[in-house]
Amino acid sequence: MGAQAERVFPIFIGVWVVLGIVSTAFFFLNDNAALKRKVHPPYVIGVSILFFGFVVLMGTPRDVFFYCILVPAIVLITFMNLRNTKFCDTCGRTLINQNPFVCPRFCSKCGASLEDRTE
Ligand SMILES: [Zn+2]
Repeated sequence: MGAQAERVFPIFIGVWVVLGIVSTAFFFLNDNAALKRKVHPPYVIGVSILFFGFVVLMGTPRDVFFYCILVPAIVLITFMNLRNTKFCDTCGRTLINQNPFVCPRFCSKCGASLEDRTE
């Protein structure tokens, strides 16, 4: 690790721990599905941009090939996060789908249908 990375890394870990606690509290202790549905996309995209910013700040190689792997990886993870997270309108639970090939049709907590939802 270079001097730049040694300065930035503790900040990165601190920000990540705080974000983890705040987002877990918000998405798993809060039952307001409509609010969570509104907050989730900008939150996920914001965290992805923040992650990219930290990677750049930590003095990663200024190499086109590195960014050709990093940027699509971040975009894919962001897309998967947005696609695989659902919110139940009946009980408000945050549902994270572990199988990317099958969309959940029912809430795992209350059994309500997740499909006939109006946006
Ligand atoms: Zn439910």
